[in-house]
Amino acid sequence: MSLVIAFWMVLILSFAFLIHWSFGEMKFRWSRSRLTDLSFLSLHLTGWIDYTTILFSFGLALPIRKVSGTVTGNHLLHVQSMWLSVTIYLFVSSFVDYWHHRFWHTRLAWFFHRMHHSATEYSPLLTYRAHPIERTFDVVFRIAPLCLIELSDLGFAIAGIMNGFIVMLIHTDSGMKWGWFGRWLVISPRAHKIHHSPLAEHENVNFGIILPLWDHVFGTWYEGQVINEEVGIAEPVHNSRSFFLIDVLIDMRDFVRQSLLILFNIGSSVRVSKKALAAETK
Ligand SMILES: [Zn+2]
Ligand SMILES: [Zn+2]
Repeated sequence: MSLVIAFWMVLILSFAFLIHWSFGEMKFRWSRSRLTDLSFLSLHLTGWIDYTTILFSFGLALPIRKVSGTVTGNHLLHVQSMWLSVTIYLFVSSFVDYWHHRFWHTRLAWFFHRMHHSATEYSPLLTYRAHPIERTFDVVFRIAPLCLIELSDLGFAIAGIMNGFIVMLIHTDSGMKWGWFGRWLVISPRAHKIHHSPLAEHENVNFGIILPLWDHVFGTWYEGQVINEEVGIAEPVHNSRSFFLIDVLIDMRDFVRQSLLILFNIGSSVRVSKKALAAETK
């Protein structure tokens, strides 16, 4: 099974690179950002990504996958045509993706999503650059639309391949806009590059993963005059070492440390307010 996945990924990657080099500038260069991307890619191609996800989510990935697996048995909608059900699945999925992507940009969750945004080179290689915690919850969002629409295994695989291909395509540095098609139907590489922009005017825009429609509906669409050459964030913390696992390890340590500090502060403020209440009632 992992061989089949690896085959598809190589096929999709080759196709994406072909498009990238056909339409974009051919400016491949080695950097720490690319090495991090390649670390992720090698874990995906070898199947080791599952083990690292379990390890760095402190085992949380296991029960989440188990619960997600039980959801697939219940559907509200049954459509005869496989292609129609794939289309409905992708439509519902794009809505779910829009909101879960917005969630990763909140103060609460940015800590994990910044790993994807810390890439300083824009290319299909960064497609699989995601924090294990983000990957852990992604399973839920992939499965969630199946509560609504029934999809055969083949339909689910086709939807997954289409989704994977589009995600790689939008990470090509081609600057393609695709006119009305890119404005309403499939988010263009240029629109998603704006989402990766470090510029202040591009903050919190273009959250759509496949369908830009939701950005229009919820007021986050941007295709303004300012176009970014660069991508990245203010502190590219995940490019400081040449192998991403070390970054994830340090990230987790910081997360645990910050969580304990917040809990400790909440605990101490509760104790203080209890004391104040007791003093008032005396
Ligand atoms: Zn994002
Ligand atoms: Zn991206």
